[in-house]
Amino acid sequence: MSPDRAASIRAAILDWYRANARELPWRGTRDPYAVWISEVMCQQTRVDTVLPYYARFMARWPTVEALAAADDDDVRAAWSGLGYYRRAQLMLKAAREVVSQHQGRFPDDADGLLALPGFGRYTAGAVAAFAFDRPRAAVDGNVTRLVARLEALEGDVMQGSGAQAVWRAAEALAPGASPGDVAQGLIEVGALVCTARNPRCGACPVAEACKARAQGAVERIPAPRKRATKKAVALTAVLWLDGGRVLLSRQPEAGLFASLWCPIFLEGHLEPDGAADEALRAHRLDPGPLTSTGQVRHVLTHRTLEIHVLRASNKAPRRLPEGMAWAPLDALTEWAIPSVTARCLDAALDRAERAKIRLTRRETRRTPAAQGSLPGLE
Ligand code: SF4
Repeated sequence: MSPDRAASIRAAILDWYRANARELPWRGTRDPYAVWISEVMCQQTRVDTVLPYYARFMARWPTVEALAAADDDDVRAAWSGLGYYRRAQLMLKAAREVVSQHQGRFPDDADGLLALPGFGRYTAGAVAAFAFDRPRAAVDGNVTRLVARLEALEGDVMQGSGAQAVWRAAEALAPGASPGDVAQGLIEVGALVCTARNPRCGACPVAEACKARAQGAVERIPAPRKRATKKAVALTAVLWLDGGRVLLSRQPEAGLFASLWCPIFLEGHLEPDGAADEALRAHRLDPGPLTSTGQVRHVLTHRTLEIHVLRASNKAPRRLPEGMAWAPLDALTEWAIPSVTARCLDAALDRAERAKIRLTRRETRRTPAAQGSLPGLE
């Protein structure tokens, strides 16, 4: 990109951003901790969903020192419903490293930030630009789409040479006045104007510079991604309910839903009065008669879980196997629970039981609803 073209696009983005940017709680701050938390939360997650999580998180852990000293389970519980739980684990690790190795101060350039756990090229660029006003590019999905259209980049721009071309163009736009605002402006124009479907070219601040528009190629750029077929995984979830509580099992520290509380998962679709019963006895549990209550299809990034839900309601055993615990239904938001747990529970409860949980939660004004059937959990 020529310096003149870069300067003219940058100036148009900056003017538009200053007049049209959404007011978001993390905008306008130069606190690298606040910028970082918002960026991690916003990855793969809609801004509307992030807002209440961000407010609660910052109220509870307002500084990197506070987060570094936090209990891992409390952070996981605060993250419940946001998905991609590895983000929370890496975030804690990075906070502890900033405190123990950098005296609580974030490195003020992208290269230093990149050395912290969980910091990729995007997060390092975003924190360097937004918090320290460094001339660094921050290329997320919105910027990729905008730049691909501005430069009329054909082919796959999400990986390989296509992605490198996007980064090169975004980096060419970074140097100059107010690089932090330019970087945020590119994201905002991508999110609000140069949208995936029906881009608002008539209201676009960089329409005159847009090569895809000039070529009549807006509809086909960027090229749609070839999506890998997701692997289907068959599971059986056992929801053991005893009065107002449910038996949950903590997942291992590595792997799917790492360290989070889930129903008892068994591999395969197991019949209630045969294989499922047998598998539970192998865990030294006697669930009594099992009832099949429904199916849950839970889509993850690389696989789809096809879950057969069984309900058990035998009397609670006196001793539980290690890693299992009874969770009170009216306090589930205080547990580190992924959305799949809420969905399986939803499938196991009858209508009256579900209504009771809702009532309890509204009365106690717990976490507001995200996206799932049970309030407070994605
Ligand atoms: S003119 Fe249209 S396609 Fe080009 S950058 Fe603007 S909104 Fe996107």
